[in-house]
Amino acid sequence: MECIFCKIAKGESKSNLVYQDETAVAFPDINPKAPVHLLIIPRKHIESVADLAEDEEKLMGHLVSIANKLAQEQGISETGYRLVINCGPHGGQIVAHLHIHLLGGRQMGKLG
Ligand code: AMP
Ligand code: ZN
Repeated sequence: MECIFCKIAKGESKSNLVYQDETAVAFPDINPKAPVHLLIIPRKHIESVADLAEDEEKLMGHLVSIANKLAQEQGISETGYRLVINCGPHGGQIVAHLHIHLLGGRQMGKLG
């Protein structure tokens, strides 16, 4: 079964891309947990941060830059936001394609 986030990145599954370039795309989370909840992903299928190769450090930095830009566009850079990367079962990762959650527009709770 093909990865849902790969399908979104390829335009094979319907999603409203809010950002796209050669290496990454971003789109709204289907089940938003905050007024702003976007997912930023690499086009390349990397299962999780634990699977990042050393030469993919730059790619990870690029994803964070995109998240910052999107936060500005969404008008939440002043009030603040949270970037979340879940990794593996205990990390609560459901979709096995590396993604950064951009959450904002409300006060976040303490991590627990
Ligand atoms: P995680 O628990 O970090 O793996 O988060 C996966 C996230 O992907 C969840 O917040 C889901 O709501 C979201 N999600 C799953 N399928 C889709 C989809 N087809 N389009 C957008 N978001 C999705
Ligand atoms: Zn994938």
